[in-house]
Amino acid sequence: MTRYLPARLREQLLAADDQRCAYCHTTEANTGQPMTVDHIVPQAQGGPTTFDNLCYACRRCNEFKGSATAGHDPLTGETIVLFNPRTRAWTDHFSWDASETHIVGLTAVGRATVIALNMNNEVIVDARRRWMGAGWHPPEP
Ligand SMILES: [Zn+2]
Repeated sequence: MTRYLPARLREQLLAADDQRCAYCHTTEANTGQPMTVDHIVPQAQGGPTTFDNLCYACRRCNEFKGSATAGHDPLTGETIVLFNPRTRAWTDHFSWDASETHIVGLTAVGRATVIALNMNNEVIVDARRRWMGAGWHPPEP
């Protein structure tokens, strides 16, 4: 997580991620908290502070991701590089279930990322249910 970012980088992130988590699509309006900035490849592993290596992430996704860059596909057990919001399209790897409260991994990358970032943790699923009751739907990807 980076506390200071040049204004130009912040503007690029805002334009790309639209104040929502690039992983679970939770919005700032729903969490009531500003997004954090995630280094897709952590700084400690040499990840640069450049647009290509940064994305908005909600606090939960950022904390669960930690320094991980890979996870395990629950179907095969294979080690898989986690979803990179700058090089991959969200809709190629994730979808919402019929209730629109759970994110479903469509590919090995998606499945591994859903598990590694705990994208359907109880707190966020409860929150999604409350938002649904208030007329919220996941933003269009
Ligand atoms: Zn998130």
